[in-house]
Amino acid sequence: MTLKQDRNYRTATQMIHGGTVRSLYGEVSEAIYLTQGFAYQTAEQAEMRFNGEDLGFVYSRYANPTNEVFEKKMCMLEEAEEGRAVASGMAAVAGAILCMVKAGDHVVAARAMFGSCRYVIETILPRYGVEVSIIDGAFVKNWEEAIRPSTRLIFFETPANPTLEIVDIAEVSRLAHAVDATVVADNAFATPLYQKPLALGADVVLYSTTKHIDGQGRCLGGIILSSADWIAENFQNYFRHTGPAMSPFTAWVMLKGLETMSLRVEQMSRSAAQIADLIAQHLAVEKCLYPGRADHPQADIITQQMSGGSTMVAFELKGGKKAAFNFCNALTIPLISNNLGDVRSIITHPATTTHQNVAAEVRAELGISDGLLRFSIGLEDTDDLLEDIAQALDAT
Ligand SMILES: *Cc1c(COP(=O)(O)O)cnc(C)c1O
Repeated sequence: MTLKQDRNYRTATQMIHGGTVRSLYGEVSEAIYLTQGFAYQTAEQAEMRFNGEDLGFVYSRYANPTNEVFEKKMCMLEEAEEGRAVASGMAAVAGAILCMVKAGDHVVAARAMFGSCRYVIETILPRYGVEVSIIDGAFVKNWEEAIRPSTRLIFFETPANPTLEIVDIAEVSRLAHAVDATVVADNAFATPLYQKPLALGADVVLYSTTKHIDGQGRCLGGIILSSADWIAENFQNYFRHTGPAMSPFTAWVMLKGLETMSLRVEQMSRSAAQIADLIAQHLAVEKCLYPGRADHPQADIITQQMSGGSTMVAFELKGGKKAAFNFCNALTIPLISNNLGDVRSIITHPATTTHQNVAAEVRAELGISDGLLRFSIGLEDTDDLLEDIAQALDAT
């Protein structure tokens, strides 16, 4: 009853049919196996389940049928061998890093990142004796200088939250592999449709599935994808014994999200490109950053490694926090909130929300000025959005 995996179906087909496993009832939409564990026919079977001779489910902290379908579909999208769904994007970030490092190891990370990712790397890791270098990841030269023989792991987001700064995945992976370091890429902003970090050389790719994969503001989730070897050697035991597993209900919601993700992301990106053009030419705007525009400072790398633009636009208003707040308050359609990749357009003022806990001088270094806004473009009618944004820009 499952899609034959030996056929080379395209992404949209795989997202609908790939990896599906049906119960004896032949349900059309995947079943939700909302169960903590599984029972065995005999004591002998229980013994064999636990020693791996009988392949089957044991406990939902380890694996669950609904989660497994979600993991399989994500593996198909990313051309990964194995995936593990976890409870949130941060469970994915923390897990991918903590499962690998030990005291004395060195980690290099790009400074442009989500506030919580920065907390894990800058505050938690040094407590356990891990040395950390946080660098300006936009320049390959900085990676070259920072990576050393004790470097065990590299972490970056590209495009980064919220400044849409880019890291050259292929070049940085090449430098990392020269010292046997593992490259972990947070691909939440690009989505698996527009950028494939594993194909570009990264070893591990992770997502906050809260963002474009759910895409409808319902569930928190995350996923880690890599080779079968990396999962077996590094993540599997960490995952089983520290307990960040995704709820099967959430996995089912994520499966429903995947069915429409390509349509949503493509339409949202088309609108975002038009909105970025409108914002970029407005007099109230200091600068506009959009990965699909030729004036993005790293447009060259973007064309090399991304196959589409983005649902996200970052821009800085002249007039700092007051202008930014005026703009947010003048909008009538977008929500003032902090999710992204949602069907609803969402405006965020990072300096006072998602990055409030990042020190002011660090924010300045990252380009998160008081006038910076992060816009996640939704599925509303593009003309309605353009009209609303134009009047809000005029009002600032
Ligand atoms: C949102 C986000 C996260 C954290 O994901 P949660 O699902 O909120 O835990 C991590 N990285 C990036 C780039 C994000 O945008």
